[in-house]
Amino acid sequence: MSAPAWAESLVEVVCADAGRPPPRLAWRTRRGAGSTGVTRRDVGIVAVRAGSDPTDQRLTLLHELAHWLTPAVRRRRRAVHHGLAFYTIAFALYRRHGVADPDALRLESARYRSALRHAAHLGIAGASEALGRHRETLRARPRRRWRVLVPEHAVRLERDGRWTVCATCRQRVVGAQLARARRARRPLRHVLWTSTPEPAVEVPA
Ligand SMILES: [Zn+2]
Ligand SMILES: [Zn+2]
Repeated sequence: MSAPAWAESLVEVVCADAGRPPPRLAWRTRRGAGSTGVTRRDVGIVAVRAGSDPTDQRLTLLHELAHWLTPAVRRRRRAVHHGLAFYTIAFALYRRHGVADPDALRLESARYRSALRHAAHLGIAGASEALGRHRETLRARPRRRWRVLVPEHAVRLERDGRWTVCATCRQRVVGAQLARARRARRPLRHVLWTSTPEPAVEVPA
């Protein structure tokens, strides 16, 4: 399907402002409120799967356009896609093109927790407070103690109803891990961990 007119013109305006050629915009719809997007700089495409929430559609398109305008930074051989350079552009685009700070903060940080820290740094309204609350929650969360439940073993795939599981530890093997396990010449290895809350420290009276 073709992209709605507002989205096409947003792509034009954002790229013209930045003095950059626009990407081709691929547009599909998905069920649910939220949208998803992906930017393929190598082939010149921004693709959006639009959910029903118009604000989230706009934010998602602007998020991808920020990727279009910001090459990923490499740090220790890892590409940083959502760093400060990216969010400097992204939050400026949100502001300039009709996504209010509180909406930008809410939608962006629901996807990427790191957005809060960058938004606070950029002085986005409400970001410092939200970051403070988030850190508070992390501190209050009980620590967990990890132990090995099933020691390291070779993964042997087995069907279990609709799932593929490891025959030894019964863990489901899905997605990329399943593809990797099927491809591997030597069996992949597994350790199954489990965690329990750390017992509260007794303070002597
Ligand atoms: Zn992104
Ligand atoms: Zn296993």
